[in-house]
Amino acid sequence: MCGIVGAVAQRDVAEILVEGLRRLEYRGYDSAGVAVINDGELRTTRRVGKVQELSAALDDSPLVGGTGIAHTRWATHGEPSERNAHPHLSSGDIAVVHNGIIENHNKLREMLKGLGYAFTSDTDTEVICHLVHHELKSHDTLLTAVQATVKQLEGAYGTVVIDRTDSDRMIVARSGSPLVIGFGLGENFVASDQLALLPVTRSFAFLEEGDVAEVTRRTVSIFDIDGNAVEREVKESEVTHDAGDKGEYRHYMLKEIYEQPRAIAHTLEGRIASGTVLDSAFGENAAEFLKDIKHVQIIACGTSYHAGMAARYWLEDWAGVSCNVEIASEFRYRKSHMFPNSLLVTISQSGETADTLAALRLAKEMGYKATMTICNSPGSSLVRESDMAYMMKAGAEIGVASTKAFTVQLAGLLMLTAVVGRHNGMSEEMQAKITQSLQSMPAKVEQALGLDDAIAELAEDFADKHHALFLGRGDQYPIAMEGALKLKEISYIHAEAYASGELKHGPLALIDADMPVIVVAPNNELLEKLKSNVEEVRARGGLMYVFADVDAEFESDDTMKVIQVPHCDEFMAALIYTIPLQLLSYHVALIKGTDVDQPRNLAKSVTVE
Ligand code: GLU
Repeated sequence: MCGIVGAVAQRDVAEILVEGLRRLEYRGYDSAGVAVINDGELRTTRRVGKVQELSAALDDSPLVGGTGIAHTRWATHGEPSERNAHPHLSSGDIAVVHNGIIENHNKLREMLKGLGYAFTSDTDTEVICHLVHHELKSHDTLLTAVQATVKQLEGAYGTVVIDRTDSDRMIVARSGSPLVIGFGLGENFVASDQLALLPVTRSFAFLEEGDVAEVTRRTVSIFDIDGNAVEREVKESEVTHDAGDKGEYRHYMLKEIYEQPRAIAHTLEGRIASGTVLDSAFGENAAEFLKDIKHVQIIACGTSYHAGMAARYWLEDWAGVSCNVEIASEFRYRKSHMFPNSLLVTISQSGETADTLAALRLAKEMGYKATMTICNSPGSSLVRESDMAYMMKAGAEIGVASTKAFTVQLAGLLMLTAVVGRHNGMSEEMQAKITQSLQSMPAKVEQALGLDDAIAELAEDFADKHHALFLGRGDQYPIAMEGALKLKEISYIHAEAYASGELKHGPLALIDADMPVIVVAPNNELLEKLKSNVEEVRARGGLMYVFADVDAEFESDDTMKVIQVPHCDEFMAALIYTIPLQLLSYHVALIKGTDVDQPRNLAKSVTVE
C-alpha cells in the first residue's frame, strides 16, 4: 500500500533508502523503518510517525552497510506502532518489508507457531519472514526459499527480503502490489514506485504479477510465476517531475490545484485534430475496439468514481450510449449482467488501485468487448492489463486528496464521450462544440482560480462547523459529491452531497443555522429547479453558499453568500465548478490546521482491498 525501497550497493545505503521513503511520503503512512546488513548483522531502526523522525534517529545512531531495505507502513493488520512497523525480522537472520495484505496470515501464523516461531508483531507481514526462514532450512538459496514462500501466500504482496548471512543480494517478489527494479552502475535498487529512485537511477524494469527477482550489485535475474527465467524490458524513465519540489506553494495540494490549466492543456496535446478527438488518444488500436460500442460500464473508487458519475450524464446525453457507473469494491463481489457490445472503463490515478484492478480482471473473464483505463501512471497494472489506455499526463500528483487528477480525468472522459459519440453518429457540429470546449478549458480554469481570495475569506465561516451539505443537479451532482469528499478528506468536517431534488425526501430535516449548504449552480436548464431547492433551504433558516454563473441572477443577502463563477458552456461546467470547491476545502483545512497533503488515516494509492 505504501512505500518500499531497497538497495544492494558498495556504498552505505541508509541515506538513499530514507530519501526514497521521503519521496513516497505523499502516499500517506503511519510509521517507517529501515534495516541494513552490517558485518553479518541485521540492524534496524523503526519509528512511528514521519520519515523525519526516522531520519533524526539515524542521525543520532547511523546505520552502516551497503545492503538494506526500508518501508513506510499504512497499517492494515495491527495498530500503527513501532513493534508493528516494518522491516520485520525472523530470528535476527531474515528481514522483510511488505506492501499489501496476506489473507491467509492466521493459518500460516498457527502453522509457524507450531514450528516454534515466536511472533513479535500483530501484522500479517510477519508470517512472510518466518516462512522464508523456515523454507531456508530445506532450500539452498534465498531465491528458492522466497519462491517456495510466495507459493504459500494468499492475498497481495510487494515484498523485499534480505538475509544477514548473505549481504550480496535481495530477493523481491510482486503479486498485486507494484515493484520496480532500478539499475545503477555496480549497484541496483528496488522500489514500489520509480519516483523513490530518481536520485540514483533512471533505468527501470517493472516486475509483472507473480515475478520473483534476485537482485545483486551487478545482476538482476527475474523469474515468472512458474519459475521460468524471463526478461522484463528495461526503460529509461520519462518522469520529469521531481516529487520533492513544492516550488513557491505551501502545500502540494495548492500547487496541484494551480497546475490544472497546464495539466489540462497537456492532456489535450496531440489528441484533437480538425474539430474531432482522435481515436488514438485511447491507444493504438482504439478505433477497432470502439467501433460497435453500445454500452459503457465505468468502474472506479473515490474521486475517480465521481469523475465516472459525471461522464455517465455525458455519455447518455451526448454520445447516445447507455452507461452504468459502479464502485469497484461493489462490482467485483456481485454478479452483474453485461449488456451486448459493452466497453468497460476503469478510472484510477495510480493504475494500481486494488479493487479496480480486480474489477478489470473480473470484467475480462465476463467477456466485455473491450477494456479501457483512464490512468495517470504509465506502466501501471491497469494500463498493462487493459486493451486501451487514456494516459492522463497530469504529472505526478503528490497531495493525497486528488485535485488535478480529477479534472484531467473529466477532460479525458469528455474526449471519450466525443469519440464514442462519433462512432454512434454524433454530428460534426456537436463534436466541434465539444472540442472547442476542451480547448478553451485551460483558460477558463485559470479564470476560476481567480476566485481564490474570495473563497479564502468565505472559508472562515466554516472553521467552527461540524457538518456541511453540498447540493447539485445533473452532472453537478457528482461535483457536489466530490466537493463533499474533499472537505471530509482534508478538513475532517463531515459533509454529504445530495442531488438537489432529493432534499425534500429527507435531508431537509437537517437544515438549521449550523448546517452550511453549498450549492453549485451553473446556468443550465435545471437552474430554475435549483432555485426552488434554494428557497426550500432558505425557508428553513439554512445558511447558503451558492457558486453561481454570472448570469444566474443569484444575489447575496443575510441567508445566502453568492460567489460568481465565470460563465462557461455545458461541456465544461462540471470541471469548472470543481475548482472553487477544491479551493474551499483547501482554505478550510488551512484554517483548521490539518495536515493538508497527508490527511490522517488516508493513503494515496490504495493497493489493498
Ligand atoms: N499489511 C501490512 C501491515 O499492516 C502492510 C501494510 C502496508 O502495505 O503498508 O503491516
